[in-house]
Amino acid sequence: MQVPAPFEYQRVSTVTEAVTLLDRLGDTARLVAGGHSLIPMMKLRLTNFEYLIDINELHDELGYIRSEPGPDGAPGRIRIGAMTRHRELLESDELAAAFPIFRDAERVIADPVVRNRGTLGGSLCQSDPSEDLSAVCTTLDASCVIQGLDGQRVVSMDEFHQGPYETAVGDAEILTEVRFPVRPRGSSAYEKVERRAGDWAVVSAGAGVWLDESGLVEDARVGLAAVGPNTAGIPGIADALRGQRPTEELYARAGDIAAESCSPVTDRRGSAEYKRHLARELTVRVLRRAVARATGQEV
Ligand SMILES: Cc1cc2nc3c(=O)[nH]c(=O)nc-3n(C[C@H](O)[C@H](O)[C@H](O)COP(=O)(O)OP(=O)(O)OC[C@H]3O[C@@H](n4cnc5c(N)ncnc54)[C@H](O)[C@@H]3O)c2cc1C
Repeated sequence: MQVPAPFEYQRVSTVTEAVTLLDRLGDTARLVAGGHSLIPMMKLRLTNFEYLIDINELHDELGYIRSEPGPDGAPGRIRIGAMTRHRELLESDELAAAFPIFRDAERVIADPVVRNRGTLGGSLCQSDPSEDLSAVCTTLDASCVIQGLDGQRVVSMDEFHQGPYETAVGDAEILTEVRFPVRPRGSSAYEKVERRAGDWAVVSAGAGVWLDESGLVEDARVGLAAVGPNTAGIPGIADALRGQRPTEELYARAGDIAAESCSPVTDRRGSAEYKRHLARELTVRVLRRAVARATGQEV
């Protein structure tokens, strides 16, 4: 049986306690949330820390999904606490109504055991290029709230992911919240190809599409997972789609851009060529489904 190297274990019950302890222990310590990425890596001895700081008691403070209206009834935003678990994201009807992409993605992330413990914050901070929730957050143009001893800062997803397994969160900081702008006349969708149920993605894609009052594309975003160093947003797709009427030809053009923009590698999940083909096909499908949802035509 694989076991991690010895480590000290400490539980904390407030964000302030967590960052104070992180500040004292520096890079010898790591937070553990659901533990479904960190503990397997420690068991495999891919990583090791002298101290683990368990933040599960922060679920009271950081486990929430909250809608906030904008000023004067304008569309607002949804704020999700970093300790919100996969299962809570899957089961939230409020979240599925605003962003159906979450339920699409959560249905195909791992299995109920992992979903009961794994968190939004842990998923983003793991920064695995195949992480589904990172692709969802990229698609929805989320921003991340990072807390340190001296206060908070807010960064975009582009700034948050700095490379595979690297984020903007410093040694003495914690991700506390992820914020999603809500925009009118829009919807979203997610699709994943996996080798077997519950596996990591061979490739997955998310799309968000917002239409103007005449039905033309006002904005569109596509996020892909498992075909680059991080879950990539593809600005070229937004540029190609804005101001256009959504059609099969337009989705095909976006699919071509996705295939050209990604950088898959051949591994045991498939060849680079196959993954590029999937990036194209999944982009077409999620755009088609997001538009069908935005126009009330999903079958
Ligand atoms: C069998 C299996 C299958 C899986 N399949 C999939 C899949 O199909 N798709 C998918 O996307 N994921 C999959 N996962 C990963 C799963 O979603 C994890 O739950 C997730 O990656 C990490 O969340 P966690 O809360 O468990 O994080 P942890 O393992 O607790 O932490 C991960 C990293 O994030 C850091 N961290 C955690 N929370 C914070 C915070 N608030 N602030 C700063 N740093 C923090 C930790 O220090 C650690 O470095 C799978 C996992 C397993 C075990």
